[in-house]
Amino acid sequence: MGLRSGGNATAQPAELTRRKTLCENTIRDICARTVASTDGGGPAQNPRPTPALHFTERRGGYYRWKANRIEIGEKYLGEPSRTDDEIRALIGHELGHWADPDLVRACRLGGTALALTVPLGLAVMFSIVFSALGVALSMFAILTFVMCVLTPWASWGSEFYADQFAVRAVGSEAVVELLGSLGSRFPSPTHPSPARRVAHARTARV
Ligand SMILES: [Zn+2]
Repeated sequence: MGLRSGGNATAQPAELTRRKTLCENTIRDICARTVASTDGGGPAQNPRPTPALHFTERRGGYYRWKANRIEIGEKYLGEPSRTDDEIRALIGHELGHWADPDLVRACRLGGTALALTVPLGLAVMFSIVFSALGVALSMFAILTFVMCVLTPWASWGSEFYADQFAVRAVGSEAVVELLGSLGSRFPSPTHPSPARRVAHARTARV
C-alpha cells in the first residue's frame, strides 16, 4: 500500500504547513466526489467512512485499512522539489486503497505470502549450514516462487486499482509525475515497476 520516495532537504515550516493543508483538502474533496459517485453506479465507490489523516516520520504514503487512516511522511512532504500535483496524486493513490472493495482480501493474502518469506529464508540458511543442499535448493525455489509470483499476484492488483482511482481523481499527468518521482526502476514483491504502473495509469478510464 505504501509509496516511497527519496530526498533529504526540507521545505520551510510555512510551506510544510501549506502542503499538509493541501493533503487535508484533497482527501475531503475526493471523498466528497467519491460518495457522490455511488449514486451513479460509477467505479469509484467507497465502502468506508472518510479516512483520518496522520503525518508520520516514515517516507511516502500508506493506507492502514484496520485504522482507516492515511499516513503521509513529513520528509516526503518536506522535500522542496515536491509539487502539488505529486502530493494530490499520492493522496489519490492512498484513497484508491481506501476505496478498493478487494483491499482486505489482498492485504491478508499479501501479508500471509510475505510472512512465509521469513521461515523460508531461515530454512535456506540452516540447510546450507548443515550441508543439506538439496533441501536448501528446494526451499530457495519455494522462496523465489513466494517473492516473485505469489506476493505480486496478491498485491499488484491493489496497486493498479489505486493508481487508476488516482487517475480518475486527480488526472493521469499528476499520477505519472508521482510515479516518475519514486526513484526506483524495479518492481518489488508488493509493487509493480513504476514504468509498468505508468503504462497502466495511462490506460485508465476517466
Ligand atoms: Zn499503494
